Amino acid sequence: MIGSGPSGLAAAAQLNQAGHTVTVFERADRAGGLLMYGIPNMKLDKKEVVLRRVKLLEQEGVKFIYNANVGDNVEPQIFLKEYDATILCLGATKPRDLPIEGRNLKGVHFAMEYLTATTKAVLAGNPASSVITAKDKRRGHRRWRHRH
Ligand SMILES: Cc1cc2nc3c(=O)[nH]c(=O)nc-3n(C[C@H](O)[C@H](O)[C@H](O)COP(=O)(O)OP(=O)(O)OC[C@H]3O[C@@H](n4cnc5c(N)ncnc54)[C@H](O)[C@@H]3O)c2cc1C
Repeated sequence: MIGSGPSGLAAAAQLNQAGHTVTVFERADRAGGLLMYGIPNMKLDKKEVVLRRVKLLEQEGVKFIYNANVGDNVEPQIFLKEYDATILCLGATKPRDLPIEGRNLKGVHFAMEYLTATTKAVLAGNPASSVITAKDKRRGHRRWRHRH
């Protein structure tokens, strides 16, 4: 399996239960894909839900290899040589940009840059350390508030 988002985890679980030996390659430092680094903690608890499920899969014999970026620090040829089958569960990392006026202004970010940075900071026990934060920013534009 390449990728450990919900599609990779589901496929790993099914194939493992069917008796196959499954190895999951994940380029991030943790499993879960957007379950881990996309969906915020307040919507989906990482420890009680995501990590618990990953641990169950590990206990059932699924092997996870982290920081394994296939096509970068992992040679794709190994999948032809060492595995009977490979499933690509890669998600959609590339954001769709919005080419509009003001797009390049400071403080305009892709959602995933913000969500990943914030979740990493929360998991490290220091939410304030996120590199992207709206702390001390004004809540709304003055003109907008005046008109409404
Ligand atoms: C804020 C937010 C809220 C959401 N809320 C919901 C919700 O409430 N309900 C819902 O159903 N869906 C929700 N989603 C959508 C859901 O998270 C995605 O549809 C789902 O995670 C997609 O799963 P996936 O396995 O295809 O991809 P991903 O979750 O993106 O996982 C892909 C994995 O593959 C890895 N990978 C990619 N390339 C490589 C490579 N070359 N080598 C190794 N690993 C690689 C990535 O690091 C990643 O871990 C939400 C998404 C976001 C961002």
